[in-house]
Amino acid sequence: MNKQIIFATKNEGKLKEIRELFSDTDYEIISLNDIELKSEIIENGTTFEENAMIKANTIMEETNTMVLADDSGLEVDFLGKEPGVYSARYLGENTPQNEKNKHIVELLEGVEYSLRTARFVCSIACAIPGRETFTVRGTIEGMISNEIVGENGFGYDPIFMVPKYNKTMAQLNMEEKNEISHRGQALRLMKQQLKNEGIL
Ligand code: IMP
Repeated sequence: MNKQIIFATKNEGKLKEIRELFSDTDYEIISLNDIELKSEIIENGTTFEENAMIKANTIMEETNTMVLADDSGLEVDFLGKEPGVYSARYLGENTPQNEKNKHIVELLEGVEYSLRTARFVCSIACAIPGRETFTVRGTIEGMISNEIVGENGFGYDPIFMVPKYNKTMAQLNMEEKNEISHRGQALRLMKQQLKNEGIL
């Protein structure tokens, strides 16, 4: 049987992406849909790295299996890098995403183009029993758009302009997004790091 890595998510899109990337390795990627966790994961870190490590370590300690865990979000420079690690909880967990996007566009109304810089950040932590947990980080730089545009993707994609395409992230197809996204980059960095360490 193949060796297993737990990828700490229930999100099918993220799973598909990592499974494709790791398909040429000996590892099978399983997810939080495949296991029942007893531990509560308290993401109370103040950085993406801290939260990714909390998730990865908690699950590794319970399962004694190699775990990859990601934490990501949007930093808007004009808003002092908000929503940052609070991206999912911004304006309250149950606030519809469209409201969050509208709110950011409104906060930046009239702000000149050069001050609308933002980035998506993704930190992925790797926890392996008996080894020191480490993280990698992927980022993509962009600009906050004047309006909500595009139907693809999720989260803040419809307000994040990607200069290379002059489109919002929500106007890109999944392949285009994965090639440039913070998460795609972090996943590729993690794969390389695991190869360098002789783990993959
Ligand atoms: P998570 O850590 O991947 O669950 O992401 C936390 C939050 O950051 C999400 O709920 C989204 O609001 C935002 N986010 C993370 N990645 C993306 C992305 O690729 N596009 C848009 N929003 C994202």
